[in-house]
Amino acid sequence: MMNKTIFQFFHWYFRKEDNLWNNCADQSEYLSRLGVTDIWLPPAYKSAIGADEPGYAVYDLFDLGEFDQKNSVRTRHGTKDEYINCIKRLAEKNIDVLADIVLNHRMGADEKEKIRVTKFKDENRLEPQSGEMEIEAHTRFTFPGRQGKYSDYIWDAQSFTGVCEDGIPAIIHNEWTKDGWDENLDEEQGNYDYLMGCDVEFRNPNVREELVKWGIWYIETTGVKGFRLDGLKHIPQSFFPEWLDRIKKHFNRDFFTIGEFWKNDLAMLEKFIQLTDGRIQLFDVPFHFNLYGASKEGRNYDLRQILDNTLVTKVPQLTITFVDNHDTQPGQSLESLVEPWFKPHAYALILLREGGIPCIFHPALYSATYKEKDEKGKEKEFTIPKIDILDIMMKVRAQLAYGKQTDYFDDPNVIGWVRSGVEEKANSGLAVLITNKEESSKKMSLGKEHAGKTMGDVERKFDDVTLNNEGVGEFHVAAGYCSIWTFKGALK
Ligand code: CA
Repeated sequence: MMNKTIFQFFHWYFRKEDNLWNNCADQSEYLSRLGVTDIWLPPAYKSAIGADEPGYAVYDLFDLGEFDQKNSVRTRHGTKDEYINCIKRLAEKNIDVLADIVLNHRMGADEKEKIRVTKFKDENRLEPQSGEMEIEAHTRFTFPGRQGKYSDYIWDAQSFTGVCEDGIPAIIHNEWTKDGWDENLDEEQGNYDYLMGCDVEFRNPNVREELVKWGIWYIETTGVKGFRLDGLKHIPQSFFPEWLDRIKKHFNRDFFTIGEFWKNDLAMLEKFIQLTDGRIQLFDVPFHFNLYGASKEGRNYDLRQILDNTLVTKVPQLTITFVDNHDTQPGQSLESLVEPWFKPHAYALILLREGGIPCIFHPALYSATYKEKDEKGKEKEFTIPKIDILDIMMKVRAQLAYGKQTDYFDDPNVIGWVRSGVEEKANSGLAVLITNKEESSKKMSLGKEHAGKTMGDVERKFDDVTLNNEGVGEFHVAAGYCSIWTFKGALK
């Protein structure tokens, strides 16, 4: 038994020259030593703009950097062989790869078709902006560079629900769209089926067959062990349970699956979990926004509320906790990066507590510097600093963060918790203290069974603490920081 830890091995601004697949393979030994069990890799298939985009503008799911398509054989992160080698190298260190699965849309069609559409208002996709009209649109994907290898399926207007016409969403009139947009949980903009590009029509059984066939091919080809599902807000919630069940049945085993449902709305996340019968774990978006809010408000934030209205409190067994990701980093659409001073606190909250499986964002361990245009279109350099204490925290999670959890959420500016350890993990157990004001201390109990033992903080900022007859010690924390205490000699 070891705590599971997911690592998101990318951010939005990884460049072609960074050769991510090779780079990740070279980090396998280090990440395994820190206790990483799963790595989430970015999309591996050919983008509509070849190597010039991170892979979310999907062109060809069967081209993992193998065919000369969209002006490039490789994808942004490397070739198919490099991708497969990376997964193999990680597997040698017992690290599983989660593949990023982007099925909502396609971009970069090879040919135009004459189709009939109705345009809808962008702000309300239930309100038509035009009558039925004929247009010529890029909706036919024949993949001439691949020439039918692996699959000869041609995607055309029958495979899509909608396109973007004159900058607004237009529904395609075909056999499957008689009832309008596909049904969706999120009613933002009336109906949020349409996001971008050619929107995939999941009601067409040929589409569903093709995507199952692709999923099986992908797993056999690459050896990935699980999935991160992109854009669940825009895909009917009935699709993935069927897709996952058929893939699990084919391989006769389980695939660890996490989903991105980007909504700061606990009730809706719970509803999604219910509708998909717990097959898909969800990222805890509300918790991210609590962490973000706490980082912005400083000492005015009441830390006792940090877990309020979070998924991890309600359904811990199906929750993936995270601090930041490639969509929240500066320059991106959902920018809401947790402030640097609060990052150690935030990572302690996701890594060292009992509930949820944490997912660590690449720059937190390696830092990131990149250029992006700001709101005024001016190029600006951004830096996301690494968190100095993170590598130790990851080791503490893997080795010592076990056993009963007791919370001391009793002061608006200083909160703490302890884990009492388990027999199977030698010297396991810990104490954590977090503050958003000046240096503080708090008495916390590890339990009577630990009476007389000595604990030290992992950064050696304070004197050791010896637990009294009741197992209670007084732990300290530096101003605006967090402290992590373990039994002496426990951390390897
Ligand atoms: Ca859609």
